[in-house]
Amino acid sequence: MHELRKDPLLGRWVIVLKEESLGPESYSIGEENPSPDEGPCPLCEGNEKNTPHEITAIREKGTEPDTPHWFTRVIPNFHPILQIEGELNRRGVGMYDAMDGIGANEIVIESPEHGKPPADMGLAQMHRVVSTYKARIFDLQKDPRFRYVIVFKNYGYSAGALFSHPHSQVVATPIIPKRVKEELDGAKLYYNYKDRCIFCDMMREELKTAERVVMENRSFIAFSPYAPRFPFELWIMPKKHSCAFEDISDEEMEDLAMMFMTILLKLRKLLNDPPYNYVLHTAPNRVPRRNHWHTLGEDFHWHIEIMPRLVRTAGFEWGSGFYILPTSPEDGAKYLREV
Ligand SMILES: [Zn+2]
Ligand SMILES: [Zn+2]
Ligand SMILES: [Zn+2]
Repeated sequence: MHELRKDPLLGRWVIVLKEESLGPESYSIGEENPSPDEGPCPLCEGNEKNTPHEITAIREKGTEPDTPHWFTRVIPNFHPILQIEGELNRRGVGMYDAMDGIGANEIVIESPEHGKPPADMGLAQMHRVVSTYKARIFDLQKDPRFRYVIVFKNYGYSAGALFSHPHSQVVATPIIPKRVKEELDGAKLYYNYKDRCIFCDMMREELKTAERVVMENRSFIAFSPYAPRFPFELWIMPKKHSCAFEDISDEEMEDLAMMFMTILLKLRKLLNDPPYNYVLHTAPNRVPRRNHWHTLGEDFHWHIEIMPRLVRTAGFEWGSGFYILPTSPEDGAKYLREV
C-alpha cells in the first residue's frame, strides 16, 4: 500500500511508494527513448487474458467480458498508484498528515487496434472514448471515499505514456488535487465578486477578440488561454455553462469528439506528432461534503486542457512557477487555425 503525505507548507499531497521503494538502478537516466513496452502488447485485442479483469467495456452485443470484439475497454492499472480496497486511515505523523493510498487507477484502452492513435480513430470511436470517460466518472463519483476523479492522457514516451497502445487513465483520489483546488478556489472567488462564471466570461472575451480561438463548433470552443504554461497549450470548453463533464448530452458528445479529433490532427500536422498530455477538469465529487460546494454549479465550468510537450520545464519554472512562452498564444492559435 502506498502512502499519501501532505506537504504542511503548501498543502500539496504526494504519493510515496513506501514498501516498493525503487533503487537507483530503476531510473533510466541517459537512455533517450527506452521502449515502454517490449513483447506482445497486453492492451491489444486478443490479449485480454493478460490484463487484470475488465471493469467495463463497450463491446459487441453478446460477447463476454475479457474476450475480443470490444471497442473500448477499462481495466485496473497493472501497477496502480492508488489501491481500490480499504479505508483511508487518516493519521497524524508527528506534525505531519498522512493517509493510506486508497483510490482508483484505471486504464481506458481507447481502441482494440495497436496502431490507431486518437487522431486516426475516426469519429465513432472518439465518441466511444468520450462516453467511456463519462461512464467512469459517473461510477467512481458514487464512492464516498473519493473526492475527485481525474481523466488524463499521456501520449508519447516523454509525456509519460505507459504503453504505445492508445490509452488514457482515470484516477480517483481521496483528496482534491492541489491544481484543481486552486482552480475551484479561483473560480469561486471570481463568482463571489462578479456573480458570473469566470470560464463563461473568458469564453466571451475570447470569442470577441478571436485572436486566440483555434476553432468553434455548435457546442464547443478551443482556444489558447491568455496566459498559458506551454506553447500551443489549448483548452476545450463547452459553450453551455456546465460544471460537470458527466452531465454532457449526446449531441455535445458528438461535437466534442469532432473537435477533439480535429485538434489532435492539427497538433500532429503542425508539430510533427508531438508528445502531449491532456487532462479533464470537472467538478469534484460533492457527495461527502454536499454543503461545502454552495455555488459550484454556477462558478465552475468543466474543460479539457491539452499540453503539447515541446519545451523542457527547467529550473526557473520549477523554482518559481513562472513559465516562459517561446511562442505567444496568439501566434500558436494562428498556426493551429491555419494548418
Ligand atoms: Zn497493443
Ligand atoms: Zn460557465
Ligand atoms: Zn483546468
